Amino acid sequence: MADAKYTEANPFIPQTESIPSDSDKPFVPALLIIDMQNDFVYGSLPVPGAVTILRKVNELIKFPGFKIKVATRDSHPEEHVSFAKTHQKPLFTKITIYHPEDPDKLMGLEQVLWPVHCVASTGGADFIPGLVVDRFDHTIYKGTHPKIESYSAFRDAWGRNETELPGLLKEKGVTDVFCVGLAGDFCVKYTAMDAVEFGYRTWVIVDGVRSISHDDVAWNELKERGVRFTKFQDVKDKVAPDEDEAL
Ligand SMILES: [Zn+2]
Repeated sequence: MADAKYTEANPFIPQTESIPSDSDKPFVPALLIIDMQNDFVYGSLPVPGAVTILRKVNELIKFPGFKIKVATRDSHPEEHVSFAKTHQKPLFTKITIYHPEDPDKLMGLEQVLWPVHCVASTGGADFIPGLVVDRFDHTIYKGTHPKIESYSAFRDAWGRNETELPGLLKEKGVTDVFCVGLAGDFCVKYTAMDAVEFGYRTWVIVDGVRSISHDDVAWNELKERGVRFTKFQDVKDKVAPDEDEAL
């Protein structure tokens, strides 16, 4: 029964904190909407309970208080390095992968081998129906190179190549990065950890995220890296206190 509390209906929720309202400091929030795509909700790699966050994610997207709203999409070629099929190995086993420009194999990374998912130009890679996509300021496509994995919205798994995101956040003078989407223990996790590394006060909105695993490992790791946790209602109170009628 030790695992009973980690169920789809009752995932592990870390302790949250209020967003401080120290008005002497600038507060310029950005919203990152991570991988709200068909394959992660209804398709080949479904995240348990993923569809249940759609309403809150959409409300967040509609809040005008965010200075910038950036979505990400996993967008893989057919034989991507993260697919078990590419390596002819069982699903969810782990291998070590190397950056294609690292022929001496100096920096190996552990790679979980996934089902084929989010292949570019397939329906599985599309945003899920009902997502308010017309309010995105920008969309970042990740994992587009056959041999490079990218969980984070900021850069590839080795940290060699950055996406447009660091430049966009800097240009807008962002102070706080808020993350929602899928999956909490992979792409949201690595995005949030990178946001801290890039110098942002970083928040995961826990009721706007769902994870593949129900354990608390990813949350604890995030906490250790300095990521903070908040809830939808707190974000609403801070970012869009008077927006009820606009929804
Ligand atoms: Zn992927």
